Amino acid sequence: MQPKELLALAEEFGNPLYVYDAATIENQYNRLTSAFSKVEKLRVNYAMKALSNISILKLLKNLGSGLDTVSIQEVQLGLHAGFSPEKIIFTPNGVSFEEIEEVAKLGVQINIDNLSILEHFGAKHPTVPVCIRINPHVMAGGNANISVGHIDSKFGISVHQLPHILRIVENTKMHINGIHMHTGSDILDIEVFLYAAEILFDAAKNFKDLDFLDFGSGFKVPYKKDDIETNIEELGKKLSKRFLAFEKEYGRELTLAFEPGKFLVSQAGYFLAKVNVVKQTTSTVFAGIDSGFNHLIRPMLYGSQHTIENISNPKGKERFYTVVGYICETDTFANNRRISEIKEGDILSFKNAGAYCFSMASNYNSRFKPAEVLWKDGKGHLISKRETFEDLIKNQILVEV
Ligand SMILES: *Cc1c(COP(=O)(O)O)cnc(C)c1O
Repeated sequence: MQPKELLALAEEFGNPLYVYDAATIENQYNRLTSAFSKVEKLRVNYAMKALSNISILKLLKNLGSGLDTVSIQEVQLGLHAGFSPEKIIFTPNGVSFEEIEEVAKLGVQINIDNLSILEHFGAKHPTVPVCIRINPHVMAGGNANISVGHIDSKFGISVHQLPHILRIVENTKMHINGIHMHTGSDILDIEVFLYAAEILFDAAKNFKDLDFLDFGSGFKVPYKKDDIETNIEELGKKLSKRFLAFEKEYGRELTLAFEPGKFLVSQAGYFLAKVNVVKQTTSTVFAGIDSGFNHLIRPMLYGSQHTIENISNPKGKERFYTVVGYICETDTFANNRRISEIKEGDILSFKNAGAYCFSMASNYNSRFKPAEVLWKDGKGHLISKRETFEDLIKNQILVEV
C-alpha cells in the first residue's frame, strides 16, 4: 500500500492501527494454488493463529480456503465466520482429551500428535477418522522457537515410533485418513522441505485408507528488499511431480494439503504508530512511539526485523534511529535503523505486520489493543474496534477488602 493511503487510514481510524490489504492476501492465496495447479485435489488450510479476525477468515473462506486451528476457540471462531466443519482441521498440541473429543463432535477433522491420546481416542471413538501428526525430525525453521521438527521438539509423534502407531491402529481398528507434518516456520531451503516430504510419503505407505497428506507450512516470506523467501513456484513444481507419482504408487487419489499462516497474511499487514518523542542521547537518536511490545511483540520475542517507514515523510533525508515503545522495560522495535527524517507526530509504518502481530497483542501496561482495518477496493473497513476502558475492566471484580 502507498504511504498516502496508510496515512489517510491513520487519520480516519486513529493510531496505533493495524491495516490489512485484502489484495495481498488474495494474491498470496492464488500464488500458492497456481504453484500446485497440477494437483487435482489441493487444500489450503489457513493457519488462523497468525491473524484470527473473523473478517479475514471470511475473506479466505471466499477464496476457497479451509482452516487450520489449534484451540477449540479457534474452531468456534471459524464456524462463526461461516466455515463448515469439514473445511476445518484441528492440530493442537498438549490440549486435553476432552477438548479433542469436543472438537471431533463438531465434525471437525482431528489431527493427533501424541501416542497416549491416539490410543485413548482410538479405543473410545474407533469410527471417527483421525489424522496423525508425524515428526520427521528434520531440522528446519528460522529460529529455535519456531523450529518444531527437531529431535527434542514437543510436536508430533516421532517417525521412529511408527511401529507403535501401527500397533495402536491395529488394536483399536481406528480409521487413519490423513498424515501430517509441520516442521517449523521460515524454511529457506526447499530441498529440506522435499526431504521431509519423502519421510512423510514413506510413513504414508503404512496406512491403507488415507484421504489426504498434509505438508504443514513454514514458508519464509521476505521482510525487506531482496530478502530470501521460499520459492513457492519451484516447490510447487517439484512437490507436485513427486506427489502425483506417489498417488500412482499408493493406488488412489489423495488430497494434498498445506496450512500456511505467515505466507498468506504477513505481507498484507501494516502497523501504524505515532512518534511521541524524538530523544537524542549521547549515543543514539531514539524515536519513541505510542505503542510497545504489548501491540507488536515479534521484534522482542523473535528478534524479527520489521521494515519501518516514516509515512509522514517518505521522501525525507535518511537518518539513523532506534525505534522504541512506551513500555516500562526494554522495548525495542529496531536498532540503528535508517529511516527518513522523523519529527514528533510523524506516523511510522511497520511492514509484515499481518501474521503473529495483532493475534499476539496484549493489554500489558493496561493499554488498549489497537483497532484493525481491512483495506479492500480502495476503502478502509473497520474490522475490530479499538478497545476502551470498559474492555479493560469488564472481567475485573472490585471486592471489599
Ligand atoms: C503455526 C502453524 C502453522 C503456520 O505456520 P506459518 O509459519 O505461519 O506458516 C501451520 N501448522 C501448524 C500446525 C502450526 O502450528
